[in-house]
Parts: sequence; structure tokens; C-alpha cells
Amino acid sequence: MLTLRRGRVLFAAKPDNESLPMSLSQGRTYLAIPGPSVMPDAVLRAMHRASPNIYEGELHDVVASLLPDLKALAQTTGDVAIYTGNGHAAWEASLANVCAPGDTVLVLATGRFGHGWAEMARGLGLSVDVLDFGEQDAVDMDRVTAALKADSAGLIKAVLVCQTDTSTGVRNDVAGVRAAMDAAGHDALLMADCMASLGCDNFAMDDWGVDVMVAGCQKGLMTPAGLGFVFFNAKAAGRQVGRVSVWWNWQPRAHPNMFYEYFNGTAPTHHLYGLRAALDLIKEEGLDNVMARHAVLARAIWAACDVWGQGGALRLNVKDPANRSHSVTSIGMEPGQGDKLRQWCEHQAGLTLGIGLGREPADAWFRIGHMGHVNAQMILGCLATIEAGLIACDIPHQAGGIRAAAEVIAAA
Ligand SMILES: *Cc1c(COP(=O)(O)O)cnc(C)c1O
Repeated sequence: MLTLRRGRVLFAAKPDNESLPMSLSQGRTYLAIPGPSVMPDAVLRAMHRASPNIYEGELHDVVASLLPDLKALAQTTGDVAIYTGNGHAAWEASLANVCAPGDTVLVLATGRFGHGWAEMARGLGLSVDVLDFGEQDAVDMDRVTAALKADSAGLIKAVLVCQTDTSTGVRNDVAGVRAAMDAAGHDALLMADCMASLGCDNFAMDDWGVDVMVAGCQKGLMTPAGLGFVFFNAKAAGRQVGRVSVWWNWQPRAHPNMFYEYFNGTAPTHHLYGLRAALDLIKEEGLDNVMARHAVLARAIWAACDVWGQGGALRLNVKDPANRSHSVTSIGMEPGQGDKLRQWCEHQAGLTLGIGLGREPADAWFRIGHMGHVNAQMILGCLATIEAGLIACDIPHQAGGIRAAAEVIAAA
């Protein structure tokens, strides 16, 4: 008996020739969740090879070639350390290098991921102050300045903020956070989480005065989950704590004396080949063009949602377009409708949408991941599928969302 991915039986040893339910989902599926993202064929091909020699040769050249390209993406002349781990590993790495138990950090939370980084900090024995800006609004800079001014003893070692909080689709003005810190005359480190925005939204680490930035490879960088990146500047390096395990220590990874130190152990060989191919795609397209593509596709999604919302409860989570991510969009409806729509899109049309992560009630929400290897036909297909799902699931909405999205694409 051959069973398909979604559990449907294809050839059952059945005595009668009872017909199987028809589905329109067969064909190339689209995983439109906010990470892991769609992997380009070039990335898949690059990874489909025998294990390389890890002691010398091509792999060493590949790793050496990745570092300048990663720094170019982050727009920094600082250092980058690569960890074999997911984004959570990068979170821990960032804290482990510059904070000791008992130190204080200030977290600016605009969704589940800000709170997640805070939770990681608590687990490391840090004292965590959270400024919570809710789930629909960006960081309010006046509150940041006030909180830092109130810290007259200078206890706060670092300010942590997500550029894009993937659970809400809120995008924060990271340069504005630096300005708010400067306005308070506070010398804490500024640490930014760009997991969901690197290679999608503009991020200028050096120009914006960011000291530490964390990212992963499975979102804008189109590679299977498993690599975490920590970028750090000289100021952050100067604040390294005295006691950090050799595994978390970012210095040997950024400045190895021997290849082995890059990864403190066996290199994640195939991920590195995949990442090389992904960075080549970004270089060929040009980072400016990559970001412009994400901006237009995001606007097409918003345009469709705005029209649909005129005929029902459907609404974009983030009201102000200036505060919206260009890589993930969170959409709210009535309780139950989000799950119903997601199920229909996946099982009837081959489109997998993101869950209402961290929202209440979660089944009223869904998210569209539009990061990395995504083009106009994929987004138009995704939106048209959602519109079909709205009709099929009897979810009230205004017709014409696809037309509005098409106009955005056409005008670009
Ligand atoms: C995905 C994500 C993370 C966590 O990354 P994992 O690879 O799932 O550990 C952290 N922060 C943000 C903003 C993310 O989007």
C-alpha cells in the first residue's frame, strides 16, 4: 500500500474498485509558511553530493567564501560566527558571549519571538525587563528612551529587539531603537534578531549602530534549518564576558586558527554547500533587487487583504503599512476560520499556510510566509488559492482581492 504525504491512500489493495476522493492538491506544493521557506532547486542540487573531505580542499574554500557574503548581507564590516543550530542557538550564542548570570537585559517585545528571546535570557540566569508593545504595533521609541533613562545605575547590558517578529508580522525600526538609546545616553549593546528579515528587508548593521545581530539560514536564506549566525562588532567583542564555553565562544568561530574551530567540531557540510548556492542566487539578483521584490510582493498581499476585508472580518494584523514586514503577513478572521482556511488550502490545493502562532484564539489567525525564493506567480497563486478557500469555507469577504494584487504586480 502506497501512502501519500498527507495520508491519503493511493493504491489500496481493495477488492472493489471504489473511487478515491478527488483533490486538486497534487502537483508542486507551496510551503508558504514563515520558515522554513521554499528551497531553490539550485540549493537542493548543491546539497545532493557525497560527503566532502573536511580536512582540506573545496569545503574550506566554500566556508571562507561565505563569510564576506554574509557580512555583505548584514551590511557590516564586523565579524560573523556560524553555529550548527537553529535560530534558538543563535539567540543563546548572542547572550552567552556578552551576558553573565545576574546581568540585566531589556527586551522590546512585539510578538511571540521577542518573548521567546526573553525566555532564553531568563533560562541563562539573566534578569529580564520586558517592554511589551502588544501584537499589532511597533516599538514605541519614547518608552525605550524612558526605560533606559530610568536605569541610572546602568544595569542594562543589552537591548534586544526583533526587526521582524514572525508571529505578528510587525517590523520594527531598528535604527530608531539606536536613536532612542542614544537619546537616553545609555551605552547598552543593541542586539537585533533578523531571523525572518535578513535577505528580505533592508538591514544596515553598521549604519544603524547595531552591535550584535542574530539570524538563521532557513528563512530569507533559503537553506534547510540548521545554521545560526551571530554578527558582532568591535564594541560587542570588547564586552565579552570572562566565562563562555568553548562551544558558544564566538571568537574562535570568527577568527579560527584552524578549520575545525569554525564550527567547534564537524562542519555542517551540506548546509554549507546549500548556503553557498543560496548566497550565489542573492548575489546574481542583487541585494537591492531582492529587497525590492519582497516589497512589491508584500504590497500585493496587503492589497488583496484590504479588499477581502471590506466584506467580512478578515483583516491585516498590522494597521500601519510602515510597520509591516516584507517577509511575513499575519491575517486575522473569526475564531475557527483560520484553521478551516489553512486545512482547505493544504488538502484541496497544495498550499501550506502558517498557523496563528502565539495568538488568541490561534484558530482565528493564519500567516503567509513570503520570504526568499518567492516570485509573482507564486504569490498570485497563493492569493487566488486563499480566495478560493474563502469561498469554499464560506468565509465572508469582498470579491476582487486578486484583481487588487494583480494591479500591484502590474504596476511594478
Ligand atoms: C524563526 C525565528 C526564530 C527562531 O528560529 P528557529 O530556527 O526556529 O530556532 C527567532 N526569531 C525570529 C524572528 C524568527 O522568525
